[in-house]
Amino acid sequence: MSGSECRECGKDLAGSKTNCPHCGTPINPNIPKYPTFGGSGWPIIVIWVLFIVFMAMLLVSMFTFRD
Ligand SMILES: [Zn+2]
Repeated sequence: MSGSECRECGKDLAGSKTNCPHCGTPINPNIPKYPTFGGSGWPIIVIWVLFIVFMAMLLVSMFTFRD
């Protein structure tokens, strides 16, 4: 493990400091893999999971209480 892998293609960056030599993705350790809401630290994926669960519950209730 070299400790430096591309966050897009996962290949070894081979010492590159600016761009991935394989796919050209810019290397910036300050940008998290998932975007977060202003300092809350919650990855947007968590919001999506909660949203999907909410929609699933809504669909279940629609099918449960329909005439
Ligand atoms: Zn890459």
